[in-house]
Amino acid sequence: MQKKTSFKIPQLKAKIHKNYALDKKTWLGVGGPAQYYIEPQDIEDVQLIFQNKGELPITILGAGSNILIRDGGIDGIVLHLGKTFKTYQVQKNKITAKAGISLIELAKIAAENNLTGFEFMSGIPGSLGGGLKMNAGAYGSDMAQIVTQITMIDTEGNIHKIDPRKADFFSYRHSQLPIGWIFVEATMQGNPKDKKIILEMMENLHQKRLQTQPQKVRTAGSTFKNPPNMPAWKLIDAAGLRGYSQNGAKMSEKHSNFMINEGKATASALEELGEFVRTTVANKTGQTLEWEIERIGKRK
Ligand SMILES: Cc1cc2nc3c(=O)[nH]c(=O)nc-3n(C[C@H](O)[C@H](O)[C@H](O)COP(=O)(O)OP(=O)(O)OC[C@H]3O[C@@H](n4cnc5c(N)ncnc54)[C@H](O)[C@@H]3O)c2cc1C
Repeated sequence: MQKKTSFKIPQLKAKIHKNYALDKKTWLGVGGPAQYYIEPQDIEDVQLIFQNKGELPITILGAGSNILIRDGGIDGIVLHLGKTFKTYQVQKNKITAKAGISLIELAKIAAENNLTGFEFMSGIPGSLGGGLKMNAGAYGSDMAQIVTQITMIDTEGNIHKIDPRKADFFSYRHSQLPIGWIFVEATMQGNPKDKKIILEMMENLHQKRLQTQPQKVRTAGSTFKNPPNMPAWKLIDAAGLRGYSQNGAKMSEKHSNFMINEGKATASALEELGEFVRTTVANKTGQTLEWEIERIGKRK
């Protein structure tokens, strides 16, 4: 941990937790503690944290569904948009929501309001903020196709609003969020459609997931990005690694690009398995896989 032992922001509404366990905050269920952990109560709190962070680095944690926190934990501040960042408004064909809301919830809200375009979110267990950061997508759609305005806070605590369509902001599983900034809100636009048809579309996508992806396991979804001409799972299959496991970390039998914590894997066991898969795939197929899961924090 860094030398600074006390860190206070007098005007802050949120509590500052010290040495806070993060393993339960991620889908993979691994990782060491945060030096400081804060769930800001509102946008002003977020600004105060950025303005008063001093030398402490800030790490944003969403729903923890695309992240592997290393066993040595995270120095500095881990900031999580919690309960107070789940509010939303529906206006005509647009939904404006705070960045802590879940993507699954957003898909339901859109369906309730007879708006199509959000169905792809219905099986993605991330938050809106995480979805924007990764340009989350599925079955041919992604955030880039529906987001019309984004509100971000920069490293000094200033608020920025942009139209991401003008700024060429999104690409495959990537956004141009400047380093150290945070998404706090976004507006998404759908198109009118009957709720019954939308719910049927969502059910179809759900059935597809049930058939192709492992359920009720500790995973962070796709481990590697799909290279341009070939899905990552095909390369992993070609390398003979479907179902391969070591030290409690496993490539799923059902979807070979899903890495699973079988129960007692450490973060380093999971990361080592990923690196082993990358090396083996490169040796056997000549293709380089790039991590989709973000790995953060210190090794033990
Ligand atoms: C079972 C399963 C299925 C999945 N299926 C899909 C899928 O079909 N398609 C897909 O794209 N992904 C999928 N994922 C991966 C994951 O759900 C998405 O990438 C999701 O968008 C991550 O959001 P999160 O809130 O969990 O982010 P986290 O995992 O917590 O963080 C991911 C990144 O986003 C950043 N971040 C989070 N919130 C903010 C914020 N407010 N401002 C700035 N940065 C932020 C973090 O700093 C980090 O860099 C799946 C995961 C699982 C476990």
